[in-house]
Amino acid sequence: MIIVMSKSATDADVKAVVERLKSIGCEAHVSVGQYRTVIGAVGDRETIRQLPWEAMPGVERAVPVMKPFKFVSRDFQPEDTVIEVRGVTIGGGTFTTIAGPCAVESRDQLFRTAEAVKRAGASILRGDAFKPRTSPYSFQGLGEKGLEILAEAREEFDLPFVAEVLDPRDVELVSSYADIIRIGTRNMANFTLLTEVGRQPKPVMLKRGFTATIEEWLNAAEYVYKEGNQQIILAERGIRTFETASRNTLDITAVPLLKSMSHLPVLVDPSHAGGKRELVAPLARAAVAAGADAIMVDVHPTPDTALVDGAQALLPSEFVEMMESIRAIAEALGISI
Ligand code: PEP
Ligand code: MN
Repeated sequence: MIIVMSKSATDADVKAVVERLKSIGCEAHVSVGQYRTVIGAVGDRETIRQLPWEAMPGVERAVPVMKPFKFVSRDFQPEDTVIEVRGVTIGGGTFTTIAGPCAVESRDQLFRTAEAVKRAGASILRGDAFKPRTSPYSFQGLGEKGLEILAEAREEFDLPFVAEVLDPRDVELVSSYADIIRIGTRNMANFTLLTEVGRQPKPVMLKRGFTATIEEWLNAAEYVYKEGNQQIILAERGIRTFETASRNTLDITAVPLLKSMSHLPVLVDPSHAGGKRELVAPLARAAVAAGADAIMVDVHPTPDTALVDGAQALLPSEFVEMMESIRAIAEALGISI
């Protein structure tokens, strides 16, 4: 149930509803918007439904939620969620670019990439220390050493960074270094991991499972939100379809759909979607035009020698060109970048 307070509701009215919910053994999640406060009630449906919420002072309406996800829905919070990391915002009308290598391979490789992407206009760095690989014999990442290098680059280039966590046992470690923690496509429905990242304080980038529907994806976000972490970025990274000409199929339709269904910021990863260098810039342009809040792009100083995902990594010079073209689209649409 979502209890929508009227514009004139007082703090005492809100408090009374919260107390009433607690008295019947339910949890109350309060979302204070610019115009009104909304209270999400979690607990036994029937018990909640039986009470005359709309008769309480300050309550405008009580809406039963049919969808399985509640807190991440627009019904619960009409205003966009805006995430801020070290002065950089994601969501709320600006366009943010995250870029960097798929994996941290060495200090030199990461620093060269960070310097180049910063100069070209990226405001957040990507780079993984733990890599989920299809083959157990492929490079698995540098582990904590990789996180140390990322933290050094953050200071050197004033770039907050995002890194993936694969294992609930590593959540504390990754969270102690990274500014944003990423859940990869293969772990979108790993509910133990989702619960753990929901309990730590850093924003969470939640990639769409490559076989997940939008509803399944929003349910995964709900797992994180429910634990108390409301700073979630939804990342569309392509889904598996019958098409084999690209690595995945970018579901661009998901962008406007999510913007209407949820208040969470939406990011597009054109690199993992297309899987080929030449597809990255066109897909990035489509993301801006479709209303995404951000993109995340693989960049490598020497893609031919990359240990992971070299085929989709842009050279720094190609990244500069891509940035120019997306800037033109953003400006044409009045989006600040
Ligand atoms: C990545 O961003 O490096 C990555 C592994 O992405 P995904 O989980 O979408 O495959
Ligand atoms: Mn990758």
